[in-house]
Amino acid sequence: MSHITNGALAIDLPTPRVPAVRNRLKDTPVPGPKRVLLAAPRGYCAGVDRAVIAVEKALEHYGSPVYVRKQIVHNVHVVSTLESQGAIFVDEVEEVPEGAHVVFSAHGVSPAVVQGAADRGLQAIDATCPLVTKVHREAVRFGSQGRHIILIGHAGHEEVEGTMGHAADRTTLVQNPDEVDDLVVEDPDNLVWLSQTTLSVDETMETVRRLRERFPSIQNPPSDDICYATQNRQVAIKKVAVGADLVIVVGSANSSNSVRLVEVALEHGAKAAYRVDYASEIRQEWLDGVETVGVTSGASVPEVLVQEVLDDLADAGYGDVAEVKTAEEDLMFSLPKELRKDSTGAVDERALGGRTR
Ligand code: SF4
Repeated sequence: MSHITNGALAIDLPTPRVPAVRNRLKDTPVPGPKRVLLAAPRGYCAGVDRAVIAVEKALEHYGSPVYVRKQIVHNVHVVSTLESQGAIFVDEVEEVPEGAHVVFSAHGVSPAVVQGAADRGLQAIDATCPLVTKVHREAVRFGSQGRHIILIGHAGHEEVEGTMGHAADRTTLVQNPDEVDDLVVEDPDNLVWLSQTTLSVDETMETVRRLRERFPSIQNPPSDDICYATQNRQVAIKKVAVGADLVIVVGSANSSNSVRLVEVALEHGAKAAYRVDYASEIRQEWLDGVETVGVTSGASVPEVLVQEVLDDLADAGYGDVAEVKTAEEDLMFSLPKELRKDSTGAVDERALGGRTR
């Protein structure tokens, strides 16, 4: 294990295991043929890709160290890799030396954080996913119209803190359908609901149903707040889970969309489902009697980590891999404007935020 201690972050990180250590899992007999159903889409979304490239390019442009407020994306491998390249992760902008470069993470920040960075003379690069920024704008708009916002999301998640900061006095957080029963609002006819981008679609719809029951005139957001990547990965794992004895989700414990994938798999037919950061965490006993293994990964997971899982599963006899594809994704976002050109003024080929896996 490695331990990040830069700033206030103190995260135990499993040591990256690339290249993979092979032949750890044993090929034990099961009643029928062994196979893997590999969900697609999986892994990196456009917002994560853009944020990770933003840190890489900031290091190229400005040299090490570049400070990053919070984990740039919620994945221990990505964070530890960037740290090894010279990024320093901190919890708050007050930990960044005055005048230094700081990158805001894909999960977004509140206006108070932006102001805090400006007060310290920091050179801020905003890697907030544009789909999170869209929710921020909705919060600002509805707040300025005097509406009260019911934000569906998880307390303590950085995205929720950032969104609430855009309409702090006019937002109430609801974390699940049951919490709707306890909601106290001033004007039941002046409500609008918004949501975190990485929630379970089904659970959120249940929360909305309960909100509508109690507050029939509550207004919907102008468009989906749960992002395309979260929705697509949940649709794919639902299809995989129906036929899976076991589902393995590659993703970190603090990755909301990865944790949701485990829940969705269990709700849609998987007999068991586990989340792992690395293939080395797969336990031999998970494979007892298992014929079909479903595999997917959260939106902040590089494909190399999925490949390690597939390699280890192949060692255990699961070399027959069929992809279950439910959508094509080709969305790309422009990089933050400070980073679109290299030192010669040429537009970097990654400037659109996309990269091959
Ligand atoms: S999961 Fe969705 S909202 Fe979050 S970074 Fe990816 S595309 Fe953006």
